[in-house]
Amino acid sequence: MRIVDIRETTISTGEKRSNAVMDFSDMTTGLVAVVTDVVRGGRPVVGYGFSGTGRYSLNSICRERMIPRILAANPESLLNEAGDNLDPFRVWSCMMQKEKPGGHGDRAVAVATLDMAVWDAAAKIAGEPLYAFLAKRYGNGELPDRVPVYVGGGYYAPGRGLTELQDEIRGHLDDGFTIIKMKIGGAPLDEDLRRIEAVLEVVPADRLAVDANGRFETGEALAYAGAIAPYRLRWFEEPGYPLDFDLQAEVGRGYDGPLATGENLMSTWDAKNLLRYGGMRPNKDYLQFDCALSYGICEYIRTIAMVEEAGWSRRRIYPHGGHLLSLQITAGLALGGTEAYPKTHQPVGGFTDGLRIADGYVGLPDLPGLGFEGKANFYRAVKALGAEDR
Ligand code: MG
Repeated sequence: MRIVDIRETTISTGEKRSNAVMDFSDMTTGLVAVVTDVVRGGRPVVGYGFSGTGRYSLNSICRERMIPRILAANPESLLNEAGDNLDPFRVWSCMMQKEKPGGHGDRAVAVATLDMAVWDAAAKIAGEPLYAFLAKRYGNGELPDRVPVYVGGGYYAPGRGLTELQDEIRGHLDDGFTIIKMKIGGAPLDEDLRRIEAVLEVVPADRLAVDANGRFETGEALAYAGAIAPYRLRWFEEPGYPLDFDLQAEVGRGYDGPLATGENLMSTWDAKNLLRYGGMRPNKDYLQFDCALSYGICEYIRTIAMVEEAGWSRRRIYPHGGHLLSLQITAGLALGGTEAYPKTHQPVGGFTDGLRIADGYVGLPDLPGLGFEGKANFYRAVKALGAEDR
């Protein structure tokens, strides 16, 4: 068996909303299709991937470097020992040949986009949902039937007042979510406190997290930490610049409640430095590394091993992203829970259509691979690549 073609395109995921540091009106994502010569049900097995949420398409890097390396490789060098399936780690190493250490950033997203598609294809060839494929090989062997989920929302948008914010939160609760995350840092502190208090009329404090998206300098982060401490919120996310581990540690010394960060770290090494220097507390804080933005599942498995070596439980990992990849790895690699973006970042945000969310848990797709074929708007977008038409 072999990879016979890789197709790619870039689509818009732009929306009129903002967090504390950016608006999403021009946002894009990259789509890729890894086409194999394996046939199931009369059609070639095709693995699909996308370049995450919130970092634009990096398909130019895929086009110029990663895809040519995969297609030029000896096909047998990309297979597992038995020769009956792709070995995603071998494909990953193939993509990373001739790449210098460090300098992660956008390259990490490009590699993750293709890595996602390779894992999707490998699980489809094995005839298993990705979470089951992962659990047997890299998880703890358990096959859950649901995982904890929380919803990311509470964005800033033109003309959006406290009533609209409360209505959004009520909608999330009606949809089966119990833990809600809202944005802060995009308004002055006193206004953000009014927004938080408005939401606390709808949801208990231990079920509300706040996210500053890396907006604050140390003084402002500490001012916010002091102001929100009495609420005893679920967690305070990304108070300062993602790579300012000193700031993170200082906030941790001044804030007794749980902190969360890591979605903008792009590699195992970045994550290791966070644990070394960021003052993160294994008994209460959350790690939110985003698999789709940090070299994909192969690297995530290495990151989990590093986290456990550092004395943490993998259950403290709540991957950012709010999409099918985050859901599948949370279930398959026995992580703590997943974020959800059911209505934003479309067509990549959210899970398969009709997937049950209740009491703060989400069920799992039973389709082979990541389950993309069960998410109509995403599948329509990747089908347009024509990779299954033969
Ligand atoms: Mg965040």
